[in-house]
Amino acid sequence: MELKIEIGNDRVKKIIEDELKVLTSLFNSNHKLNISKILVPREFDVTVSNLKNTSDYKAVREHHTASAITIKFNDEIYIVLSPLLYINNSQCRMNTIIHEFYHAINPYFSYNFNTDNPTKSRYTHNLFSLFDEYQSVRKSYLFCKKYLKEFDYQFKRDTIYNFDSHSKSLLDDSLYVHRLNKLIYEIHDNRDVITFLKNYHKYFAECALDFVYTFGILDACIHFNKKYERILISKLVNENTLGLIDFYRRKIEQESFDLFEGFDLIVNFMRGFGIEFIYKNNQETFNVYPLI
Ligand SMILES: [Zn+2]
Repeated sequence: MELKIEIGNDRVKKIIEDELKVLTSLFNSNHKLNISKILVPREFDVTVSNLKNTSDYKAVREHHTASAITIKFNDEIYIVLSPLLYINNSQCRMNTIIHEFYHAINPYFSYNFNTDNPTKSRYTHNLFSLFDEYQSVRKSYLFCKKYLKEFDYQFKRDTIYNFDSHSKSLLDDSLYVHRLNKLIYEIHDNRDVITFLKNYHKYFAECALDFVYTFGILDACIHFNKKYERILISKLVNENTLGLIDFYRRKIEQESFDLFEGFDLIVNFMRGFGIEFIYKNNQETFNVYPLI
């Protein structure tokens, strides 16, 4: 595994390298990490854009900022760490880096689910990618808990901040519930399917990721009981969406990445976000349901 550190002087570079070596060997004592390169570039957005072959990757999102990413590049796995990560303390940094290691060891990470049935491809892709995020969040917290024994003040503060910023999408209706409902009502009137699907997918992708992130933290931090009760009142947390989380919990207990049997649950999950896709006679259609 190659380490490419672009920030700091020689002494700082050595400290960063040593820390990464300690974390990889700690992780490798239980798992088999197969990554080609870890980069700490000066320009995070530019480096990620180049590796992903896009021009517009932005670490700053609506409610939070990404500080690391795992990328498949020419059949190799790269992890890119933001320089901002080195403003944080070592416990928080450990959580972020271990989170990326869990993405990297998922055998279905960046697997190509495309088939000639777009509905099946869409659902299968979502089923696996949401699990990938859930398991990375949950397992990295548990990994840190096991090795750190005690969390420091900044780690605890960061965990609460992470939880609050992701769960906001579920609790504040103005962020996604109203936007999804607006799209659902508009499609009835204007029938502009292309615009509808483009916007629906954008909102769904962001909000569903926040959803599994929220439950990943909740399931790793059992002392968050009070926060759990609050989440249950969200319009997006219902039988349909919780069914998928229960399935993910079972898969973690079984230490299994094989999710194909959960197909009906991802269909229900998306229904919980107001949409159901149907593939019939070589054509995809969809039904929409306002979120109430
Ligand atoms: Zn992640």
